[in-house]
Amino acid sequence: MHRGITVYFCRCAKDANEAAPNKKIKHKNYPIILAEQHTTFIKQHSSRLGFAYCGIARAVQLDDDARKLERWLMKGYNGKMEYMERNFDLRIDPTKLVPGAKSVITLLLNYYPEQQQQKDAPKISKYAYGKDYHYVIREKLNELLFVMREEIGAIDGRGFVDSAPVLERSWAVRSGLGWVGKNGNLINKKMGSFFFIATLIVDIPLAYDDAFAKDFCGSCNRCVEACPTEAILSPTVVDGSKCISYLTIELKDELIQPELQQKMDGWMFGCDACQDVCPWNRFSKPHDEEHLQPIPEILNLHTAEWEAMHEDVFKSLMRNSPLKRTKWQGIQRNLKAIKTSG
Ligand code: SF4
Ligand code: SF4
Repeated sequence: MHRGITVYFCRCAKDANEAAPNKKIKHKNYPIILAEQHTTFIKQHSSRLGFAYCGIARAVQLDDDARKLERWLMKGYNGKMEYMERNFDLRIDPTKLVPGAKSVITLLLNYYPEQQQQKDAPKISKYAYGKDYHYVIREKLNELLFVMREEIGAIDGRGFVDSAPVLERSWAVRSGLGWVGKNGNLINKKMGSFFFIATLIVDIPLAYDDAFAKDFCGSCNRCVEACPTEAILSPTVVDGSKCISYLTIELKDELIQPELQQKMDGWMFGCDACQDVCPWNRFSKPHDEEHLQPIPEILNLHTAEWEAMHEDVFKSLMRNSPLKRTKWQGIQRNLKAIKTSG
């Protein structure tokens, strides 16, 4: 699964500021013991909010990662996702997103569902079974920043999820949460890769985790072999313009190229093929996040029912779902493409 990347700036800085106590934090001579106490508080509270993991890295410039992304963009692997080419300086330097940024907090939210779709349903990526994760995570980030301000003081902070200016997987690796697998997803040794990554950049020093230094893909090549469109070109390098997630979500009003239509493999929205085969996902356990509980129609509707669905019905059923991103027209286009692939 490669979720469609949307530029999304969480409004938690503004929202939580309204209720923030006026306790000024002096960073000069900020004692280590205080940084550790605050870190413990943040990690405990993130767990209470339902995040499975919380890792913290020092806010530094990400020159190497940004250059890697630049090379990827130069090859056109972003397809029509032009927004990925913008805001390059923001990607490199977290202080451009939050002035005086000291720490980058990375949070993982499990989305692995207990129930799966019916066998003959057009396939939908698991992350999209429930309510749009942007809303779910925004609320959690707002609350986390709110309680941090109450407990610690006047923190400047900004939350992000699936946001183009933030290299979230790089921060997750730097925070010790896992490694980037050959399929380009962050993989955590204990929970695999079916999780959302949220990022909170703040201007207070915290206790930093050790970066994750190893790669546990080894000689495994399952994701590369399983990719229907051969989009995984080399370890960690995915040609986004060939990825089914891009084709079914990001391509908007355009038609999917005929040679790729042949390879859709039944995916109507997104694609999980390279995650479903990953041996690290045998450790996936169902989430217990009520807002991510599957919309019944996503699990149960058959192809013919999706095809016959009126636009108004789609809008009503999917009003809080990630599927609204591709709109009814996109779903109908994808269904036609799936038929082509037989
Ligand atoms: S299997 Fe291929 S097409 Fe599907 S999400 Fe992974 S890279 Fe994209
Ligand atoms: S399927 Fe194998 S190679 Fe691909 S990400 Fe998982 S462990 Fe790595």
